[in-house]
Amino acid sequence: MGGGLVTTVAIDGPAGSGKSSVARVAAEQLGFHLLDTGAAYRSLAWLVLERGLDPYVEADVLSLLDDFDYAVDVSGETQRFSVGGVDVTGAIRTERISGAVSGVARVPAVREAVNVRFRALIADARPGIVVEGRDITTVVAPDADVRILLTADEEVRIRRRIGDVGDAAGVAERLSARDRSDNQVVDFMTPAPGVTLVDSTHLDFDETVQAVVELVRTQERA
Ligand code: C5P
Repeated sequence: MGGGLVTTVAIDGPAGSGKSSVARVAAEQLGFHLLDTGAAYRSLAWLVLERGLDPYVEADVLSLLDDFDYAVDVSGETQRFSVGGVDVTGAIRTERISGAVSGVARVPAVREAVNVRFRALIADARPGIVVEGRDITTVVAPDADVRILLTADEEVRIRRRIGDVGDAAGVAERLSARDRSDNQVVDFMTPAPGVTLVDSTHLDFDETVQAVVELVRTQERA
């Protein structure tokens, strides 16, 4: 791919890699919009639980897909997400949702439906957008100008997550289980051809953001 103007930055990575926060600050520094694709899966998991259904039963998940009225403001300074007009921004970050989300994310029809929405948001974003998830570099935006796999050793990812939620043993177990389940749907542990690996195991937060921004600048200069 040639250099020049960068409009789409795709970042994939496992749970606890720091990609949400890194993507947010990198987007701020670049003056870009931000799309957190995991929030869409989390919002559907929220709706499934809200209706008293089972996120690990495909028929339950599919029964809500047509009704899934999910809105995201990609331009806001603090990203807000809503389902059917209900603000779920805080509710989707709980461990209860983290435990349910892999169930809805493994349903192919769910992935196809949200990907259509993601691609429309990406196409409309000016001057550019940072998109983060698990399959952005490979499925959602394989033609993105900059494609990054952001990772870190599992031990480090668990330690960072414990900082967020407490409960050390539970965090470690749930993070590994979620990665194992998610990795059966898409491989986000090894970079696809053309994807740059950024390993943040030995980088602090600011250094990781700078590594991402620098990849964008390098591509712009190429
Ligand atoms: O990134 P985050 O932890 O918020 O993602 C929540 C879940 O959404 C993941 O564990 C995964 O099951 C799903 N996901 C996905 N594909 C994406 C983004 C998230 O399957 N592009």
